[in-house]
Amino acid sequence: MAQQKRDSTRQVWLETLEKHSRDMDDPVSADYWSPALDTAPRDELIAIQNDKLKALTPFLYENSDFYRRRFDRLGMTPHDIQSVDDLSKWPVVDKKEMMEDTIAHPPYGTFTTIDEEIWKDRGWMMFSSSGSTGVPRVFRYSHTDRKYWEWANARSLFAMGIQRGDVVFPMGGFGPHVFLWGIQYAFARMKIAVIPGGGMDAVARTRIIDRFKPTVIASTPSYALHVGRTMQNEGMAPEKSSIKTVLVGGEPCTGIDSTRERLEDLWGARVVEFYGCTEVAPHTGGYSCPESTRPDKPVTAHLMEDIQIWELVDAEDNQPVPIGERGLTVCTSLNSESSPQLRFLVGDYTVFDDSTCGCGRTHVRAVGAFTGRADDIVNVRGIKLLPSDIEQLVRSVDGVSDEFEIVLSTNSEGMDIMEVNIEHHDVDAAGEIASNLAAEIRSCCEIRAGVNVLKPNTLPKTEFKAKRLRDERSSHE
Ligand SMILES: [Zn+2]
Repeated sequence: MAQQKRDSTRQVWLETLEKHSRDMDDPVSADYWSPALDTAPRDELIAIQNDKLKALTPFLYENSDFYRRRFDRLGMTPHDIQSVDDLSKWPVVDKKEMMEDTIAHPPYGTFTTIDEEIWKDRGWMMFSSSGSTGVPRVFRYSHTDRKYWEWANARSLFAMGIQRGDVVFPMGGFGPHVFLWGIQYAFARMKIAVIPGGGMDAVARTRIIDRFKPTVIASTPSYALHVGRTMQNEGMAPEKSSIKTVLVGGEPCTGIDSTRERLEDLWGARVVEFYGCTEVAPHTGGYSCPESTRPDKPVTAHLMEDIQIWELVDAEDNQPVPIGERGLTVCTSLNSESSPQLRFLVGDYTVFDDSTCGCGRTHVRAVGAFTGRADDIVNVRGIKLLPSDIEQLVRSVDGVSDEFEIVLSTNSEGMDIMEVNIEHHDVDAAGEIASNLAAEIRSCCEIRAGVNVLKPNTLPKTEFKAKRLRDERSSHE
């Protein structure tokens, strides 16, 4: 009987996924991969979400130990969550809860809906959260999942204007991270040329760009800066190279104006962003469209609502906030067999706009894109700020190098202090640069910070994800 329920709910879920997927292999128009979905009226998007939710909750209950225990503990049944209006009854799932499950049930935890017998049949590939906070959450995606993953990513990469004829050079190690693998698979589905860029250093990568003339590079924003500077050191001009598009992911970028502009100037190219999180993958997350970085308009990133339900919640009590108000992102992912999640707290601060975008897409947009997660918030003497707040100011300084770090420590009187280390070639002006930046930080972030101006090439170069914060406070030992 139990097995029968497991099988029947799985079948309904797989049929529901199939029913709402369309235009899997090729773009249907010049502007949209899937016009029917990308520009669907909002009531139609909500109807798709409701239909998927209705199939998802019984499937999770019967097939995921993590979710079954949670339903039982909360005294709820899958019938309690049948539509988006019911979602707020279900308290958000956070990283800590997933981490505890992973610790109790190593190495994968129990959130997946696939047991070992089915895994053998489906085949899988392993991905991991970056592990910057605590025990990494590890996920396996089946080859069924990969089909939906490729499709969702293809739709968003197409919206970024990456199309047949482009040659993409992904620059980074192909470890168990979703970003580069996700786009790699999507490019194969889109029939877009790729030059694999793993396993080489920045100099080797500049030679590939010079010799094979890719039109798109893909990496973290910090690393795209590093490779551009390396090209300059090698006597080449990145702004005159074949690169027309810089595709960034893994760290917030387009929402930090001074970083985005730095990249645009360095490469003489447009910057588009792909912003996600492993826990609610395989999926696309936030993605740029032709309207995302128009001058004199706030930067925006689309989310894809037929495959995910996005909400914003209050940072204090996790209750939903109305459209137009700032909150933390929560995602219900509806795009895989192995790894759907019900209200996972992704935790990016943003504001939503659900009016139709100038590009014609009807899916919700994050206004200001993304600038950091609640986990990244630093609290210094009661002042809360994101490292990206400092990044925005540092990168606005003329002639400052790309690397910087924020160091928090405790002084001899037991008071927490913040220092910002930057690099600048103009040694004579160091005093003035430091006091100007300190004044900017005081006025924008309301915090007193010491600024140290170091010689260029003092700070370590970023190889993949940048580590901008060093917390040496005694309370953090
Ligand atoms: Zn748009």
